[in-house]
Amino acid sequence: MNCIACGSTNIIEGKILDEAGGTKFTFKPLDVSMWKAVFGIGVRKISAAACVRCGHLQMNVNFSDEDKQHHLKFEGEQPDLLKRIESES
Ligand SMILES: [Zn+2]
Repeated sequence: MNCIACGSTNIIEGKILDEAGGTKFTFKPLDVSMWKAVFGIGVRKISAAACVRCGHLQMNVNFSDEDKQHHLKFEGEQPDLLKRIESES
């Protein structure tokens, strides 16, 4: 893994901590409602890595294969959130 800011390979991995001691810091896609997120539905864990040389922070979301299939079916710019909600109801 290289730093996307400076190209350095001097990357260390770590965790982003939150008020719950790092156990609940997650990524919530915009199309997942807060009600679902409260119960852990639709949110995904994240991992992070930092460049020792320049301090750039990179984060990755651990998407499932199902997530990738769902989100990658749209080529280019993602459709408007409201249009996506309407198409799923
Ligand atoms: Zn860097």
